Amino acid sequence: MPPRNIDVLPTNPVEDEIADEIEPVITEDTHPQKRPPMQIVWRNIVYMSLLHLGAIYGMFLLPWAQPLTWLWTLATYLMNALGITAGVHRLWAHRSYKAKLPLRILLAFWNSMAFQNDIIEWSRDHRAHHKYSETEADPHNAKRGFFFSHCGWLLVRKHPDVKEKGKQLDLSDLMEDPVCVVQRKIYVPSVIFMCFIFPTFVPWYFWGESAWNAFFVCGLFRYIIALNVTWFVNSWAHLYGNKPYDQNINPAENFFVTFSAVGEGYHNYHHVFPSDYSTSEYGWRFNLTTFFIDCMGVLGLAYDKKKMSHEAVFRRKQRTGDGSEGFGYVVKPNDEKKSD
Ligand SMILES: [Zn+2]
Ligand SMILES: [Zn+2]
Repeated sequence: MPPRNIDVLPTNPVEDEIADEIEPVITEDTHPQKRPPMQIVWRNIVYMSLLHLGAIYGMFLLPWAQPLTWLWTLATYLMNALGITAGVHRLWAHRSYKAKLPLRILLAFWNSMAFQNDIIEWSRDHRAHHKYSETEADPHNAKRGFFFSHCGWLLVRKHPDVKEKGKQLDLSDLMEDPVCVVQRKIYVPSVIFMCFIFPTFVPWYFWGESAWNAFFVCGLFRYIIALNVTWFVNSWAHLYGNKPYDQNINPAENFFVTFSAVGEGYHNYHHVFPSDYSTSEYGWRFNLTTFFIDCMGVLGLAYDKKKMSHEAVFRRKQRTGDGSEGFGYVVKPNDEKKSD
């Protein structure tokens, strides 16, 4: 059953149109794609390789871990994921809903569990990703290929345009939120505790799991899976899938990414209507994050959820969509004529 969304604010259709039509300041036509030689950051390569090796080892330890440890791994995965999706993505980067202080504090802790840079830095990169999508100022520009948009962008120095345009973004709303400011101040200890100590301590203390198993499975394995799933939104969902809302942009609707990233793979919709709190035309369909935000709404902790009107979505689909619905592709008679 779809959520009733009693407190959803239907967004003014006029505003929808304006928000939709924001053109990136830099486009491939107006800005020559000058790419300085890539500078590899070896420290990040070593560090990422070690974390991935630890996670692969953790995967092989799974059969020797207790069933309760498996459940705890899933629980920490979901907290980790929601710290990104409901937290830094939909709440802080996009302001698609508002959250009371207790929920913001909880999401900030879960965000530290995800260890993907602090809320302010993540939001700045993400706002640049939307504003300058698929240009050199996009931190994980998918035009540079699958590997670059997946994790390669973290292994090399940032393109000068990313730094320059990133500095111009307005982050005052984040700087005024004490939760973001405090999380940034205590970021390193909060990551050490939330990403590694807390997930290891619980199975060891409460059901006698070995600290070794708990660290490699609930710590490293969970962290690296969640990290790669987040990266899939930037790589896979920017390269493969159907485009019901705008066939002229790269982001696409991708089922695997939607399912694993708890609702974040409706990426064609999300780039067309970035302020929709559900990041999708639908409510709870494969979208645990929307379900979570709605539950928080029932508790009075989440409010002012922004949702596009059906009319605005319908009109946009008619105008620029590829004729598909959901995750299925339907060929339109004039498909060959579309410009790329
Ligand atoms: Zn986004
Ligand atoms: Zn994107």
